[in-house]
Amino acid sequence: MLNGKKFKNNKFIYFICYALLAIIIVFTVNEYFNGLKYEHIKYSDFVNYINQNKISQVKIGKDKLFITLKSKQNEEEKILYTEKLNDPDLIQKLDDANIKFDGSSQENAVMKNIFTGWILPVIILMFFAKVILGALGKRMGSGVMSFGRNTAKIYAENETGVNFEDVAGQEEAKESLVEIVDFLHNSQKYASIGARLPKGALLVGPPGTGKTLLAKAVAGEAKVPFFSISGSAFVEMFVGMGAARVRDLFQQAQEKAPCIVFIDEIDAIGKSRGGNVSGNDEREQTLNQLLAEMDGFDSSKGVVILAATNRPEVLDKALLRPGRFDRRVVVDRPDLKGREDILKVHIKGVKVSKDVDLNAIAKSTPGAVGADLANIINEAALKAVKNNRYEVTQDDLQNAVELIIAGKEKKDRILSPEEKRQVAFHEVGHALVATLLKHTDPVHKITIVPRTMGSLGYTMQLPIEEKYLITREEMIDQICVMLAGRAAEEVRFSSISTGAANDIERATETARSMVTVYGMTERFDMMALESMQDKYLDGRPVRNCSAETASIIDEETLNIIKQCHNKSRELLKNNIKLLEKISEELIEKETLMGDEFMGIIRMYRGKGK
Ligand code: ADP
Ligand code: MG
Ligand code: ZN
Repeated sequence: MLNGKKFKNNKFIYFICYALLAIIIVFTVNEYFNGLKYEHIKYSDFVNYINQNKISQVKIGKDKLFITLKSKQNEEEKILYTEKLNDPDLIQKLDDANIKFDGSSQENAVMKNIFTGWILPVIILMFFAKVILGALGKRMGSGVMSFGRNTAKIYAENETGVNFEDVAGQEEAKESLVEIVDFLHNSQKYASIGARLPKGALLVGPPGTGKTLLAKAVAGEAKVPFFSISGSAFVEMFVGMGAARVRDLFQQAQEKAPCIVFIDEIDAIGKSRGGNVSGNDEREQTLNQLLAEMDGFDSSKGVVILAATNRPEVLDKALLRPGRFDRRVVVDRPDLKGREDILKVHIKGVKVSKDVDLNAIAKSTPGAVGADLANIINEAALKAVKNNRYEVTQDDLQNAVELIIAGKEKKDRILSPEEKRQVAFHEVGHALVATLLKHTDPVHKITIVPRTMGSLGYTMQLPIEEKYLITREEMIDQICVMLAGRAAEEVRFSSISTGAANDIERATETARSMVTVYGMTERFDMMALESMQDKYLDGRPVRNCSAETASIIDEETLNIIKQCHNKSRELLKNNIKLLEKISEELIEKETLMGDEFMGIIRMYRGKGK
């Protein structure tokens, strides 16, 4: 752990404040009590008292004389004192008047009092002040006394001690973060060329997939300090406190640059603003401050802000604008190989018996995230200890899987084998049709690992080059690909599933725009039937045609969809062997990259049908 210099200075100032306060209190109290006990008289009065023979005893101190009168009745009465003037005849006078005298013990008493009357009370008072103010601070939302300075909630580490090797199964995420590591490592180099450094990246993915771990690994790889704060820590604070903390966080970070600032659970502050008027004012202020800080700081110093969320859809759009969290790094559930790698990372420090087969464990944990897998290993190790064994066996691991996964299965969406099969055929349907048709983008990746955003799998196509114009043929082929998922289910299974809802929506939208916006049908030729005039308001196209025309539009749209659906179905029927082969492979591996996918097709074709 690292504490910024600021923190220490702060503590020192508080210490001084408490001490001064205590000293003032003790001083006042001492004065008051001394006032009760001692009474000052003039030297001349003292001499008068001698002459009047009123004095019974005098104690001579270093510079004071303490006088006891003959009339003194009890101990309660005040002791008189006076300054000891340079009077050479004093002793003589006292002797003459037959007054007892003696060196003063009072001054020793004063010396003693420095401890009992000063130091001890000061210490006790300081102690109470600290306890009381501390308790007060805690009750009032932590940090009343820190005036916006974060003493507890910002975590700072000089060395996270984590690097990319510790994060397994997130190759794509790591790849996109390597660049940030380099920025931080050589921020001078980038600055001297004048390159603008990236300000922030948003790590998106389900809980337990290693977002926090990745953020730490970035700091560890770049060997820079790591500041972290959790979005939820802002929520219960006083108005203005959140904003103050954000300001403080950034100030500290800039002093320590290059460094990483990590905001965990950013959705707690970054929820989109507006909407409900009554809204949480505090959160809004905090968010505004965050935006202002992100815009304000000089990225050439090498401060990179990482944030994590599992609900990217609720984030305020302003956070995602260029110059803020404009990069998104998806940290998704690991596939089979990823799970095996994660298990390998966590089994490192554990003694295992020879029969342990991590691949088998990975196979039996579809949908599990890194945190689950780490948990499984730990559970298994505990079990081994409980049974007085020195090694973890496959049985221990298997038991742990049941323990951890069974509990989660109900909560999380983990596919049954039949569902997995159906999803696999659906996705391969998309991919295969995309490959069989001419005017389509190559397949980049197919996966049936359940996604964050509700879909059960996806097929990702990446264009070879950016396109500004899309031809009619391309649009038709796109629709065919969108409908191919359902088509594959039809070709292979007797039943169809609800898994195509999103495909259907997108296909319909594309088909409709061919009719109404792009003038791609014989029927309507080049007639504009919808316009996008209020694009900046809500982005919805405005229909500008009669009701009869609208029903013809529906008809034309349906035509296109039917044609495409048929085309996909035919294509898949003719290639059903290939569809099955690839699907089996996908069920086995859960994720196929584009080249693996093409490899299977080529191998199959090479052998001849
Ligand atoms: P998140 O922030 O995404 O919720 P964490 O980073 O807090 O998840 O992960 C919790 C723990 O799970 C980590 O400390 C680590 O032990 C383990 N873990 C998660 N993902 C991975 C991974 N990809 N590789 C290795 N361990 C992981
Ligand atoms: Mg986390
Ligand atoms: Zn689909």
